Amino acid sequence: MGETRHTKVLIIGSGPAGYTAGVYASRAMLEPILVQGLEPGGQLTTTTEVENWPGHTEIQGPELMVNMEAHARAMGCEMITDIIVDLDTTQRPFVAKGDSGTVYTADAVILATGARAKWLGLESEEAFKGFGVSACATCDGFFYRGQEIVVIGGGNTAVEEALFLTNFASKVTLIHRRDELRAEKILQDRLLKHEKIEPMWFHELVEVVGENDPKGVTGVRVMHTKTGEITEIPCKGVFVAIGHAPASELVKDVLELHNGAYVSVKPGTTETSIPGIFAAGDLTDHKYRQAVTSAGMGCMAALDAERWLAEQE
Ligand code: FAD
Ligand code: NAP
Repeated sequence: MGETRHTKVLIIGSGPAGYTAGVYASRAMLEPILVQGLEPGGQLTTTTEVENWPGHTEIQGPELMVNMEAHARAMGCEMITDIIVDLDTTQRPFVAKGDSGTVYTADAVILATGARAKWLGLESEEAFKGFGVSACATCDGFFYRGQEIVVIGGGNTAVEEALFLTNFASKVTLIHRRDELRAEKILQDRLLKHEKIEPMWFHELVEVVGENDPKGVTGVRVMHTKTGEITEIPCKGVFVAIGHAPASELVKDVLELHNGAYVSVKPGTTETSIPGIFAAGDLTDHKYRQAVTSAGMGCMAALDAERWLAEQE
């Protein structure tokens, strides 16, 4: 049996929402505990340049998150390396169990667990994960120097990953199921002008092809969405960038959700369907999903928690 820690405010998640909640809750003298989870710093640690964080024309994602963590720590937020595996919302104080064995009891909880990469769900994709199939260009792009690569998707992530991968790859094929990109126009322009990138419209990945000795990808089979025609493209790397799903597993059976699995909050607040549980960032937001909007909600969650706790007294 591990130790039990009590806090007025438990913040679960260490992305922009969690760290910003940490800054505000600390400054409200709530002595928050922040549990960082499997990915300290959150999604921005998997990217390179961030060009839309106000105050920085350009900053590296990991650097921005290290700064945010340091800021929250400096204000007095306690950082804990642990993963919350269970949250009991029926008891007061709330009870959260850590993977480490530590039990956290909290008068209020701020959920900021964000989102995780989606996969296509193909058997061959699963078989070659880590052996040529990746969802993180920043993490794995370096392994594909001078090689041909495909990127799947048409959003900001896919386009940014394709552009980033041109630093290593001899050629990048962007495979998209439509002929229109969802990505911001400025990114689309850069992609379409890039000599190393070839878009392949109206195609879907149907199989990752590879060999087992040594294990690695040799190509992909893609299907034309209108004609059904199959084409094989030789490549060494496959980067799946088809979006992210909210990490709401901890609360999916107890909180109201929307658009599938996003946690619902009362409009204009971060209040969930259970008083004392607040939610912020990508976990709640299927629409904007930006660092700055997540940070804004983190601030709101800490202020909402502070007022709610004051009302309880
Ligand atoms: P996340 O950043 O998703 O962080 C979630 C946190 O929760 C993580 O620390 C994780 O470890 C933790 N966690 C999850 N489950 C648990 C658990 N059970 N216990 C404890 N902790 C847990 N946005 C921009 O504004 N500009 C950009 O340039 C930009 N570039 C991007 C590039 C990429 C490749 C990606 C994937 C996203 C990008 N985004 C960008 C979007 C931005 O990263 C997200 O909107 C933002 O990170 C969401 O912040 P968040 O705090 O809600 O959650
Ligand atoms: P996204 O915007 O949801 O885009 C996902 C893309 O993948 C879409 O083009 C979609 O196609 C495609 N797709 C989804 N499921 C698919 C499937 N099963 N098979 C084939 N293609 C599939 O996700 P994202 O690009 O990861 O972006 C997530 C959020 O983070 C967004 O809000 C984005 O703005 C933000 N973000 C911002 C930046 C930035 O500001 N620079 C950078 C990265 C991410 P359709 O278009 O046909 O639906």
